[in-house]
Amino acid sequence: MTIHDGYVSVDPWLRWGTVYDYLDPHELVVLGGRDGSVGVGGLVLGGGISQFTPKRGFACDNVKSFQIVVAGGKILEITANSHCQLFQALKGGQNKFGVITRLDLFTYPSPQLYSVSTKLKCAQNLEVSLTSLYVPSTGEPYLQLVMLSSSGNNVTWTKQDQSGGLALPPPLAEFNNLSYTHVEESKGTMSKLASGGSSPSGLRYDLRTFAFYSSSTMLKRIKQIFDEEFAPISKEIAGFSGVIEWQIVTENAIAQGVAHGGNVPGFKGGGPVIR
Ligand SMILES: Cc1cc2nc3c(=O)[nH]c(=O)nc-3n(C[C@H](O)[C@H](O)[C@H](O)COP(=O)(O)OP(=O)(O)OC[C@H]3O[C@@H](n4cnc5c(N)ncnc54)[C@H](O)[C@@H]3O)c2cc1C
Repeated sequence: MTIHDGYVSVDPWLRWGTVYDYLDPHELVVLGGRDGSVGVGGLVLGGGISQFTPKRGFACDNVKSFQIVVAGGKILEITANSHCQLFQALKGGQNKFGVITRLDLFTYPSPQLYSVSTKLKCAQNLEVSLTSLYVPSTGEPYLQLVMLSSSGNNVTWTKQDQSGGLALPPPLAEFNNLSYTHVEESKGTMSKLASGGSSPSGLRYDLRTFAFYSSSTMLKRIKQIFDEEFAPISKEIAGFSGVIEWQIVTENAIAQGVAHGGNVPGFKGGGPVIR
């Protein structure tokens, strides 16, 4: 990695934890995965939801330039001003256009973060987790992630510092009223938050992602399909576990994507999106 004025050049085969650790002494951060074990290339090419997405858009919206090897072997430098259509296509277009060999990612001052995950026990062995993030220096609160889990093998997705109780700052105080069964909180820069080692290693994952404008009808229907399709399988296969993640893409995040030249998800406004 090499730090430049306002951006850092990163090899796409690195993992986000390595990138955050490298930038931390410089008090800088980039938009990348919330879990340090995730790879740089796949996350950015898939769009990428970061802790900072509510403020700055997807991780792909915060790429200054891509170096890519295209079919035929040419090495191209892709920016908003050169090969601008390919630039847009790479932002969420995954691996269809070539092999990325370098990413230049915009850097930002690295704030102290305060992350809280609460778990609420529901019927049918379902757990609901709410993950929220608070940036004390600016007073910004974000509800990050809502997860429904079959929790067959009690997967701990956000293994962070254990805390005896909740002491949430005012913007998140309403979370204190929730009847939770488990709380995890973590304070520090992105380097620390991403090092929690959230998911168990050595397991096989199959991730499917889609996005829709926020709609309670859609949310209820997805939950219904999850119950119908998933729960019976998890009863039959020991250790089989599934999660629906509702990731909230705010109107501001969508606006950031538009301001940075657009991306493959292609939302242009019209309300928050669940992804
Ligand atoms: C534990 C966990 C936590 C996660 N957290 C987040 C999160 O916080 N935010 C989020 O947005 N997503 C998250 N994800 C999803 C993650 O972004 C995707 O699984 C992503 O595809 C991982 O990329 P990778 O490079 O690690 O994986 P890979 O499987 O290596 O790559 C994924 C895809 O990208 C392509 N690709 C990778 N590198 C290149 C390259 N250099 N050039 C061309 N194509 C390339 C590969 O061909 C493949 O199709 C998480 C996933 C897991 C398992």
